[in-house]
Amino acid sequence: MNAALHNPPASSHGNPGYADICLEVRGLRKSYGSQEVVAGIDLTLRRGECFGLLGPNGAGKTTTLRLCLGLTDPDGGSITMLGHPVPLAAREARVRIGVVPQTDNLDPDFTARENLLVYGRYFGLSVARMRERIPALLEFAGLSNRADDNIKSLSGGMKRRLTLARALINDPDLIFLDEPTTGLDPQARHLIWERLRQLVGQGKTILLTTHFMDEAERLCHRLAIMDHGRMIVDGSPRELVATHIEPQVVEVYGDGAEAWASERGTQLSERCEQTGETVFCYAHDVEPLLQELEQQPQLRYLHRPANLEDVFLRLTGRDLRD
Ligand code: ADP
Repeated sequence: MNAALHNPPASSHGNPGYADICLEVRGLRKSYGSQEVVAGIDLTLRRGECFGLLGPNGAGKTTTLRLCLGLTDPDGGSITMLGHPVPLAAREARVRIGVVPQTDNLDPDFTARENLLVYGRYFGLSVARMRERIPALLEFAGLSNRADDNIKSLSGGMKRRLTLARALINDPDLIFLDEPTTGLDPQARHLIWERLRQLVGQGKTILLTTHFMDEAERLCHRLAIMDHGRMIVDGSPRELVATHIEPQVVEVYGDGAEAWASERGTQLSERCEQTGETVFCYAHDVEPLLQELEQQPQLRYLHRPANLEDVFLRLTGRDLRD
């Protein structure tokens, strides 16, 4: 990767504690009308960590990000970002922050390079500094050969990479990403993940929201599952799976799966849950269950280890949230 993209962290920010803790949130609260959208959240992000905020729609993830960025005023609690109190000194903190919003808000009238230039000016970067930095950012985004193309001609994945590159224009220490890969195909997602890993490898700190459990499992050192404005659990993906769910899952499909589950499935597993036509059986030892299913040719099944999605669904329920 191009060395010009990443400057070694400055040692003289003058904010005690900044070196280690990038973001400290205590008792954060926000209501809209009578609805408490963020209901007393605590969060600590250490330097070089990738932290994931997961939760169903309406859980309060985006509001939490907006509060941390100083874009929404809290009703209570405290936020310290890169040593600065937010919202009081949000402007100072944002100098060292990168933001990738949920939807790309690139300027459609400009080229890829011009979009980076305009954003750099917003941060007050000198022309010389931008000349040095923009080629490296375009290379990071895999867009060196599209630098002078209009945004309208770029694919969804390219736009997302450009938005990420744009968020890096000020060489931020802490990067916020709101659903970084929603709407992308698998190839484009993998490329974004690779880039995010590079950034973490350089010591950047990342706070991301996502609906993709595999994304969280792959990228995040730690994550929290939020619902109804509260953090229900937090820990490493592995810890959460080990603590909150039986280790084995057998998914059963086919005619009569429900009737089979209510009679045999519940006897042979610790817990059965049904969604539509599928029954999920959770157990420590699935051998008896698998032997039984061998005798049921009308049923199809899939045996797999439990994962973060199982934890998520157990803790937040299987009901649709719109
Ligand atoms: P998530 O990002 O987890 O989907 P949000 O933080 O966007 O959740 O929203 C949480 C809740 O707060 C939702 O019910 C949403 O409708 C409500 N909400 C968010 N922003 C506003 C606002 N500006 N005014 C009123 N309600 C809002």
